[in-house]
Amino acid sequence: MKVTILGSGTSHGIPVPGCGCPVCRSDDGRDKRMRASVYIEGSRGETAVIDTGPEFRIQALNAGIKKLDAVFLTHAHADHIHGLDDIRPFSIETPIPVYGNRRTIGEFRERFAYIFSKTQAGGGKPRIKARVVPRGQNIVLGGLVFSPVPLRHGALDIFGWKISENPPEGRNDSAFVYLTDASDIPGDSFRIIAEGGAPEVLVINGLRKRPHKTHFSFDEAFTAAFRIGAKRTYITHICHEHSHREIESLCREFAEKNGFPGAILPARDGLELEIPAKNAR
Ligand SMILES: [Zn+2]
Ligand SMILES: [Zn+2]
Ligand SMILES: [Zn+2]
Repeated sequence: MKVTILGSGTSHGIPVPGCGCPVCRSDDGRDKRMRASVYIEGSRGETAVIDTGPEFRIQALNAGIKKLDAVFLTHAHADHIHGLDDIRPFSIETPIPVYGNRRTIGEFRERFAYIFSKTQAGGGKPRIKARVVPRGQNIVLGGLVFSPVPLRHGALDIFGWKISENPPEGRNDSAFVYLTDASDIPGDSFRIIAEGGAPEVLVINGLRKRPHKTHFSFDEAFTAAFRIGAKRTYITHICHEHSHREIESLCREFAEKNGFPGAILPARDGLELEIPAKNAR
């Protein structure tokens, strides 16, 4: 499968409107971050996005998205769902399923009430099928298997997603794991992630150096990443307190000090990751 980082920024994005800090004024293209999202393409042509933030339209254009089979939501905060209307062009022929936990789908239905109402005279709306995913239920999309990974985001229960390609029947081997907006990973979720071996790629949220109530700091993200032990780890949902270059150094320091076995780097918008199917048939 191929994963494209559509956005790697926190809820404000970077630059933050009205902010004159060095990161918001940076000339380094890697310091421009849209709201956090990833696009996934399976080798049989399956396509899905995790979260549809406010810049989804621009992200879809930048990534050259031509098709979208499914939307997987982590939670219903504005920076993760407010671009959902822009999936319209992809839903003309077939309604697109939107998956999330019960609370996320409930809030999503309130926020996008017009999609579910019979009348919206003259206005277009995306054709979708909202689907509640209980913990422990896998969603199969062609050769891709999506498993929810329960996370805590402050007081909120949200989902990360673990995706593998062509796993043996009844399994979901760890290949790509996307954990954003976590402030805690329950022990059982580490077990879900570890099933079938350490992931090839982990994308995990790290907001900034200073601690935050509802997001991992860099150190907390590094510690969780160390326990997960993916071959390649990328930090996402980054705020404007640190430049890409600075975060690269922090990652390097952590890896050297702790003997981190894999690669660890900050994510950047537009980054493309090839993830081989472990069990290619
Ligand atoms: Zn967020
Ligand atoms: Zn700033
Ligand atoms: Zn959030």
